[in-house]
Amino acid sequence: MTDTSRPVPAVVRSYRSKDGILTVGGERLDRLADRAGQTPFYVYDRARVSRRIANLRKNLPGAIELHYAIKANPMPALVQHIAGRVDGLDVASVAEMSVALDSGMAPEAISFAGPGKTETEIFEAVAAGIIINLESETQMRMAAKAGRALNVRPKVALRINPDFELKSSGMRMGGGAQQFGVDAETAPGLLKKIAKANLELCGFHIFSGSQNLKEGAIIETMGLAVDLALALAKGHKKSLTHINIGGGLGIPYFAGEKPLNVKKIGAALAPLSRRVAKSLPGVKIVLELGRFIVGEAGLYVCKVIEVKKSRGETFLITDGGLHHHLAASGNFGQVLRRNYPLVIGNKMDQPASHTVNVVGPLCTPLDILGAKTALPKAAAGDLIVVFQSGAYGLTASPTRFLSHPGPAEILV
Ligand SMILES: *Cc1c(COP(=O)(O)O)cnc(C)c1O
Repeated sequence: MTDTSRPVPAVVRSYRSKDGILTVGGERLDRLADRAGQTPFYVYDRARVSRRIANLRKNLPGAIELHYAIKANPMPALVQHIAGRVDGLDVASVAEMSVALDSGMAPEAISFAGPGKTETEIFEAVAAGIIINLESETQMRMAAKAGRALNVRPKVALRINPDFELKSSGMRMGGGAQQFGVDAETAPGLLKKIAKANLELCGFHIFSGSQNLKEGAIIETMGLAVDLALALAKGHKKSLTHINIGGGLGIPYFAGEKPLNVKKIGAALAPLSRRVAKSLPGVKIVLELGRFIVGEAGLYVCKVIEVKKSRGETFLITDGGLHHHLAASGNFGQVLRRNYPLVIGNKMDQPASHTVNVVGPLCTPLDILGAKTALPKAAAGDLIVVFQSGAYGLTASPTRFLSHPGPAEILV
């Protein structure tokens, strides 16, 4: 089967070209490759990130806080750019915590999520004054111990594993049995212990899943998360500042997928925000987004080394592949392997007349960037561009696998 007849994805149409060459941030792709000094490289477009955040702000109620989850893309310059435009940052390791603090974001607007935090990591986070999202009673004890050693009252939030799940989510991270958070039914007991310890309970954290393109499911889950947080907040109102309801907002990667209607989500958040304001004055709902903020603003660019024929099929063998971009190869949580939007960046004015396979240099059949995809006639030296590569790209990839050189990263 071939996708020759497929319409050009909206994200591809949203980029401009000059003389048949794709541009990013107003600069031609070949010039960007020269600037990067090599292929493959990732390029992130800061104007797109700014527009995406501005559009979220426009459509979400003013009282909703927007946080960026750094694990989606931790490039320091990009985090710095985003830090000036959001209300907080979420980190999942002490290395991410350093990047967040270096960006100038206030410590009390940074939260630290993740199961398996060690005593040392929690100690460093308490010393930095950031909020520890407690994922277990053990973490609670570690935070209290760090507070005693440092003579401070650590700020904590309790991450809840809810008794509901985010339906039609690409990756489920809540509901059922999970390593994340504490089960909702055990939360009241733990909250009593937190109240007795020298810990400042700042909020609740309920994150249910990632990559969701169904507004209905997202809205339903957000409502349930707010209900749950309001129920748990009874008797613990004093120190609360926020209810973090996660996000899970997805972006369209594959044919047939449609972008989310943010206006619809914003409209559904308005009454939720009013409910929270009524029962917990001053407490903010926080949306914590990674992919939605950066995913569409990044491209992965690699070069065709050789055009090879095998039994009637054409293979474009490139210098890039799954070692730099695992997700585009279909090996990062996808059930069915499908192609990310793909073009030849220096042949934007030529028809997609040839059905080819775009592969990487690795000795594994998993190293595919495009299977039976329609592209213009290719030659060695052409630049292959993989769209929707701003989130879960480089740092979600096995860069050591086969020991090829890594990609460059640039922000334009
Ligand atoms: C991964 C993660 C996010 C970001 O998820 P996206 O789907 O990229 O928006 C937010 N919060 C937590 C706790 C996470 O683990």
